[in-house]
Amino acid sequence: MRMTIVPFASVADGLPQAIVRRLRNVLPWMFVVAPIHEDPTPPEGGDALQVRQMFRLLDREYQHNELIIGVTGFDLAAPGFDYVFGYAAPEQHTAIISLHRLMHGTNGRAAEQQVQVERATKEILHEAGHLMLLPHCGQEGCVMRYSQTLQDTDIKPCSYCARCLKELSRMPERPTDG
Ligand SMILES: [Zn+2]
Ligand SMILES: [Zn+2]
Repeated sequence: MRMTIVPFASVADGLPQAIVRRLRNVLPWMFVVAPIHEDPTPPEGGDALQVRQMFRLLDREYQHNELIIGVTGFDLAAPGFDYVFGYAAPEQHTAIISLHRLMHGTNGRAAEQQVQVERATKEILHEAGHLMLLPHCGQEGCVMRYSQTLQDTDIKPCSYCARCLKELSRMPERPTDG
């Protein structure tokens, strides 16, 4: 499987490359970093980008036989949700994650880069699982566990449980269309 990470300009320099290095430790896929894209403007009256806006931009990136994951530093909202860490559209082979809420450390400071990389990698693995049609997993030791808060993200490991990993390796190399 080939996955292209599309960084938006709101993401700190070097972070996408660090995330890809970490992803390569977990999944034997080919990870590529695309050129930086300009973030769109949040809809009027808000600070958050809408997932629909992002998918419109990312749609142009899609090539046959790969998965696309956009990474933005803006907060991200989805229909029915004030914010999401990430959102996957399996039928478009595309997902988007937001680093906005993953950067928070203690005492109002930003989290260390290593912590940010770890959290972002978990979110990407989680959305990658959804793109490969994996549902949420109840196992504590699984990145497919649903996280509602940053603590949930920090608690879960940066890996799939044995069952999800088995499902993942059973999936066809190319996601099916439609
Ligand atoms: Zn999920
Ligand atoms: Zn699992």
